[in-house]
Amino acid sequence: MEDIELRGCSLDELIEICQGIGLKRYRATQLFQWVQQKAVRSWNDMRNLGEADLRTLSSHFQFYPLELVREQRSKDGTRKYLFRLHDGETIECVLMDYERTMTRDRHTICLSTQVGCAVGCAFCATGLEGFRRNLSVGEIVGQVLDITHSVRREDPDFQVTNIVFMGMGEPLLNYDQVLKAIQLLNHEQGQKIGMRRMTISTSGVVPRIIQLAKDNPQVGLAISLHAAQDNVRNQLVPMNRRYPLASLMEACEEYIRITRRRVTFEVALTSENARNEEAKAFVRLLKGHLGYVNLIPVNPVAGTGMERPTSEQIKRFAQVLENAGISVFSREERGTDIDAACGQLRRLWESEDNEPIGPI
Ligand code: SAH
Ligand code: SF4
Repeated sequence: MEDIELRGCSLDELIEICQGIGLKRYRATQLFQWVQQKAVRSWNDMRNLGEADLRTLSSHFQFYPLELVREQRSKDGTRKYLFRLHDGETIECVLMDYERTMTRDRHTICLSTQVGCAVGCAFCATGLEGFRRNLSVGEIVGQVLDITHSVRREDPDFQVTNIVFMGMGEPLLNYDQVLKAIQLLNHEQGQKIGMRRMTISTSGVVPRIIQLAKDNPQVGLAISLHAAQDNVRNQLVPMNRRYPLASLMEACEEYIRITRRRVTFEVALTSENARNEEAKAFVRLLKGHLGYVNLIPVNPVAGTGMERPTSEQIKRFAQVLENAGISVFSREERGTDIDAACGQLRRLWESEDNEPIGPI
């Protein structure tokens, strides 16, 4: 029994477990609220549960709050967190735009779904490290809970409003855990984050894209496209060798048909792919598809050899797409002064001899 992870349990599961050990049903609801809504980090903080019940409960669950080992704050309000998991692995997540006046209370967290990643994209710090393990449901949800707990110490009303699965790892290769985490984050008696305010970003796991549309049609989808020709994309995003562009675009069409939502296509521009002929290839690939293009200048990661394009190159690239009627957003980067590209903080940390900054 003791290997049940408290933060990964649905309300129904808690009810079943509580009833199985002779506790009243409402105890399960209280427990769920302490964990998922109030984001407490210890059994002792669950004040209305009573000592005897707490003792019984704590012997039936594992409760692993994440250990904050480093927090960095950017000048633009972005905060980056490095957490240590109970087995010593570390993951990163980012709270974007935490500046009330600037953003009118839109608080987005970028979550990790795996330790490392098996896909190995050419520009990505996480990909360089290879795959270590999947995150559990409790560890995915825990990133939101522990950031919330940390920020609430200075701002008691703080509430996360949006989630993007754009941290470390490929969410659709940890599908069941990610989907259950989404249900928990959406729960009425938890963080109540709207389904339509959560977005999964993927390198293109085609069968899972279609499954996602059927299982949870309200969640947003972002495709890490980065190249519009198979020979270029094979190099940048190796997932393309398994699911080439034709099958990926077909899956996107199916997703759009089922969900009636647009897809976001992410394009990280380097000095290489920001060329005019690449832009034309994007036009050929995307014309007629219901989507937006998000242009992001690549964040150069040591060891990848990728270089940032000039702002002139980015403007020209965007112009070619716009002239063809494609909606383009040039996403400003956030937190570049704090290594906020996915996997960079972890790499820095692992290469230094660091001490934790203490519990949150
Ligand atoms: N594995 C998923 C989600 C995590 S990566 C995916 O690949 O979609 C989130 C986004 O950051 C992806 O679009 C990814 O391609 C992009 N990214 C990774 N490293 C980057 C870098 N160094 N510069 C700019 N974007 C990067
Ligand atoms: Fe994995 Fe995404 Fe990084 Fe590619 S960009 S290696 S899929 S985390």
